[in-house]
Amino acid sequence: MVGAGQVAEVVAAMPGTEFLARRNGSADILAPPDSADGLVAFLKDKSIPYKVLVDDLQEAIRTENPLPAVEESEVWENRGGHRMSWRRYHRYKDIESYIDYLAHTYKEICETVIIGTSTEGRPLKVLKVSSGGPKKPAIWIDGGLHGREWISPATVTYILLQLVEFREKHPHLLENLDWYILPVSNPDGYEYSHVHDRLWRKTRSIPVGTKKRRPYPALGHRGPSRPHRFRSQCVGVDPNRNWDFKWMKIGGSSNPCDDNFAGHKPFSEPETRAMADFITMHKEQIALFLSLHSYSQMWLLPWGWTETEKPDDYYDMYVLAEKGVNALKAVRGTDYLLGTSAELIYASSGASDDWAKGVARIKYAYTIELPDTGMHGFILPASQIESTGQETWEGVRALAQYFAEGYN
Ligand SMILES: [Zn+2]
Repeated sequence: MVGAGQVAEVVAAMPGTEFLARRNGSADILAPPDSADGLVAFLKDKSIPYKVLVDDLQEAIRTENPLPAVEESEVWENRGGHRMSWRRYHRYKDIESYIDYLAHTYKEICETVIIGTSTEGRPLKVLKVSSGGPKKPAIWIDGGLHGREWISPATVTYILLQLVEFREKHPHLLENLDWYILPVSNPDGYEYSHVHDRLWRKTRSIPVGTKKRRPYPALGHRGPSRPHRFRSQCVGVDPNRNWDFKWMKIGGSSNPCDDNFAGHKPFSEPETRAMADFITMHKEQIALFLSLHSYSQMWLLPWGWTETEKPDDYYDMYVLAEKGVNALKAVRGTDYLLGTSAELIYASSGASDDWAKGVARIKYAYTIELPDTGMHGFILPASQIESTGQETWEGVRALAQYFAEGYN
């Protein structure tokens, strides 16, 4: 027998591998081509059962998001203001223009709110959906906090489509509730994952103490230890380890080169700060906080920072989440696990849902890990966007129903 720890150690020794362990004893390992044979030999040698989920990741990336046929793009172009299709993953500008399209097409209920600007200067656009009137409970939904989780912004925009463009199907969800929806909360990381590195997770901020693309001193320069100042060129912070609640207590890294680098201080990132400021401003009104990530098919409840403590009202949170999970499953049988991330994955602090619960005091705060369970992982084929959108919308709608009925 070998423990998960030993596997993690061996895997870490293979250059370029990544390791995602779960509480149930399974783990997903990503290995570069020249380490794959060694990894398989190791697993066989130790009699550790394994299954190859993705044989060739590069090929999976190539076929994940096929370009549309010419006729299809013409239909989009002529649809009056936006190109969103939910048949492929779109770049940030398409998502932005969909938000703007909704705001000017449905002026009476939609308004774009720019809550801040990313490190690289992209606007963080929230669509506020409200039919006006006195203060109502509000629902916050964000997507795309991690760059590579493309199904998240795709699903959040699908939720916008249903909520706004098909509003006659559920008028009470607009009459009795306000909605604040941020489809892409880390647009720099999202764009970077489209253009440079499909598996980019973090933001794109430059570590403190280094300067962007500053040239090394010319040959012959003899200044005292100058190169040290340029030592770290690792970019970006894990925006879901960066929130100011139990920051760096567990599961975050202080090394800027790590994928889970928590930042040099809480809210070091303009993206997390802007979201926190906006949520704080509306915290009396926000009854439900949802953050959409991928992958795993899990509906996660606080606390993520501790394996031993649960919020006092955990049962209430669990019962409501169960409504969501059941409604979601009723669509096509997709199973979600329900529990805290400390229970189901691993404990980590500085995540947005813990902050929403612990600091903003929003009673119902959840992180939803969208499909799948690892067959495609982050590289979920675009052909699954619509079905994922439909079932997730049903889950969200079940929760919204609860708050819409509770009002009045
Ligand atoms: Zn994520």
